[in-house]
Amino acid sequence: MSLSRRDFVSGVALGALGSTAGRALGAATIEPQQRMKAASTPIIVAAGNGRPYLERAYAQLKAGADTLESAIAVVTGPEDDPNDDSVGLGGLPNEEGVVELDASCMHGPSRRAGSVGGVRNIRNVSRLAREVMLHSGHVMLVGEGAERFALARGFVRENLLTEASRRTWLLWKETHSDWWGPGLADPAWKERLRGRRAAVELETLERLQVLAADLGIPPGERLAAAHKVLYPPTGTIHCSVLAANGEMSGITTTSGLAWKLPGRCGDTPVIGAGCYTDQDVGSAGATGSGEENIKVAGAHTIVENMRHGLPPLEAGMDALKRIVRNYNGDMERLRYVDMTYYILRKDGAYAGVSLWTGYEPGRPHTIAVHDGSARLEKTVSLYEGASQEWPPLVAPSQVPL
Ligand code: ASP
Repeated sequence: MSLSRRDFVSGVALGALGSTAGRALGAATIEPQQRMKAASTPIIVAAGNGRPYLERAYAQLKAGADTLESAIAVVTGPEDDPNDDSVGLGGLPNEEGVVELDASCMHGPSRRAGSVGGVRNIRNVSRLAREVMLHSGHVMLVGEGAERFALARGFVRENLLTEASRRTWLLWKETHSDWWGPGLADPAWKERLRGRRAAVELETLERLQVLAADLGIPPGERLAAAHKVLYPPTGTIHCSVLAANGEMSGITTTSGLAWKLPGRCGDTPVIGAGCYTDQDVGSAGATGSGEENIKVAGAHTIVENMRHGLPPLEAGMDALKRIVRNYNGDMERLRYVDMTYYILRKDGAYAGVSLWTGYEPGRPHTIAVHDGSARLEKTVSLYEGASQEWPPLVAPSQVPL
């Protein structure tokens, strides 16, 4: 069986605002067009995976909760969900099998910020970023120091690696290292060798599923695990909140890139890249290729663009175009970049913009919005089509240069 790759629709820059709208790309629950203006305040905007948690956060906000509290009520949803393998508990680990989490937040009214990077064993790093903001003289803590600070502040240490994430990591490890998996001294070495030899003769995706079975991954989960091994996934949640009294906050949290080098931090903990809020202007956050977003200081760029008069949509598109500029518009490379921005202006105008329409055909990038009614809306994309997963599964000689 050959590996089915995502269809690539060659990139066409959008000339007109909202030209992706109206096409039946997503599930029925995704609104076909972005509204871009709140029906009323308060308003919450978040990445699509925040949708199930909007109601509880909105109720808190209506009851007078602080905007950062309300944003945390959204993002702790995926952090606490062991089945969301991109954030918090159950996040896919680094190359050594250790879950490392990143988060950052900004509180508009007090003009304060907090962030943590590469944190192990602490589930709710969104709350931890707020603790750094409230209870230290620093803005950013990383690694062991951040973990020790968390324990001092009463957080509980726990193993964040779920059984499903551990097995998927093992599958990656056994296929990316010569010395993992049964060796010559294994009593069943001949059978295993025979099985593996048969497996390597099959094409990649099928081979990975054979090995997944060997690792005890349930049949219904083997294809997904194999896919995650081939294309290290990312995933994150951002949330920005505007209260009825005009106060704003933003927060972003992630387990980052699967199988990353230990210590790798993406854009999420970088104030100004993964998250930025200015009480005078608005708030923005990011999900997607962290390394690319750091280089354009995406969230800060967007807020500054709004400060200088650009509407949220154009402010976000400009940040995306800076990523494009960093590659001189080279579509052979840009097709592997995935970037989405969530933008909320102080007056309730908002936008969700993405470099590509979605991850794959029929699965558009979305922004979750609550302004009295909760919904998912499609982002407006700079290029039409699906981003490609990295790394490409073809021999280097076949990669077009
Ligand atoms: N931006 C995150 C990171 O690079 C990943 C993501 O949003 O998917 O760590």
